[in-house]
Amino acid sequence: MFDPKAIRKSFPVLDQKVNDEPLVYLDNAATTQKPLSVLTKIQRYYETDNANVHRGVHSLAERATADYEAAREKVRAFIHARSTKEILFTRGTTTSLNWVAKFAEQCLRPQDEILLSIMEHHSNLVPWQQVAEKTGAKIQFVGLKNGELDMEALKNKLSDRTKFVSMTQVSNVLGCINPVKEIAQLAHEHGAYMVVDGAQSTPHMAIDVCDMDADFFAFSGHKMLGPTGIGVLYGKEALLNQMNPVEFGGEMIDFVYEDHSTWTELPWKFEAGTPNIAGAIGLGAAIDELSALTMTDVAAHEHELIRYVMPKLRAIEGLTIYGPLDDEKRSSVIAFNLAGLHPHDVATALDMEGVAVRAGHHCAQPLITRLNTEVGATARASFYIYNTKADCDKLVEALLKTKAFFS
Ligand code: PLP
Repeated sequence: MFDPKAIRKSFPVLDQKVNDEPLVYLDNAATTQKPLSVLTKIQRYYETDNANVHRGVHSLAERATADYEAAREKVRAFIHARSTKEILFTRGTTTSLNWVAKFAEQCLRPQDEILLSIMEHHSNLVPWQQVAEKTGAKIQFVGLKNGELDMEALKNKLSDRTKFVSMTQVSNVLGCINPVKEIAQLAHEHGAYMVVDGAQSTPHMAIDVCDMDADFFAFSGHKMLGPTGIGVLYGKEALLNQMNPVEFGGEMIDFVYEDHSTWTELPWKFEAGTPNIAGAIGLGAAIDELSALTMTDVAAHEHELIRYVMPKLRAIEGLTIYGPLDDEKRSSVIAFNLAGLHPHDVATALDMEGVAVRAGHHCAQPLITRLNTEVGATARASFYIYNTKADCDKLVEALLKTKAFFS
């Protein structure tokens, strides 16, 4: 049985008071807390196995390499990729998407189009703006309908000029789940590549990159119980073979001559220099933790929280909630505003009650502009495996107190 109260015991950070109130951590879309299994795995690596990977023949180097490559296999299995050659370790989603954008620079010509949604995180927008500037390609945006992606508009904007479709699977503001499998099929019918930003989906639902037929898929370790500074770019093997490395130096070469070099094979062709070994190993431990819970149960638990809390939030007069009208279409993110209050004030007041939420533009300024909020920002609560219905009650109670305080 999925038991968030038992799960909480593995997260020492949750067992503390903030402003004399028990901590209720609802900022999981920004980053999640780390369980003991991840912390001890990283500590054990440094305590007993610390060595650089791939180059050494001594025992420590072999153990470190084995653990690092085992983590790659865990990632492969977790997202159902065909081969570990398709799993590149990066610094996180941002780096992964920047690498895809570099590949796009290789492919795009003036008049070509890049199709994004208006809800993209800046990580899946700013790199494309750079590509557009360098290649002359044009960015097109798909807007919203009823708080979610407008699929009719998407179909209308797709054309044979579209060469890349790059979209998030789950919005970090609206919380809506986008039908990336259907979008990939439409993209491919027009001969475009499909890039999926999986930063907010991989931690919360089962991912199968082959089934969704993504050409590239990006995510971050720190949003799924893993450490910061480690992430993944999945790419189809044939595409990664066409793609030039983004960074150059040690580890990624086959042979270096005085005037030129040749590259080693996938996936190491992309991993120049000493990688984030402890980060990858920590991500492997995070995947073990999530796999033991099963992603089906993780998703079911979060949906139960959403079904529980949404009616209570809707009952608060003056609270505007953004995103899909149908709660079944919402992942575990809720952006909201209290009428007449700046979300920073709301977040500060909630913090006084021990409730940690985020406030701001959530690195999605074009979306926030479209939402036409009073102050160009929202507050945001986001849930994870260790959150309980009691946490939901505390959020509602703290919001009511905040409203009463400022009225
Ligand atoms: N994409 C989405 C949808 C996100 O929510 C985030 C982070 O909040 C990112 C990309 C960027 O992730 P990172 O900062 O880990 O690179």
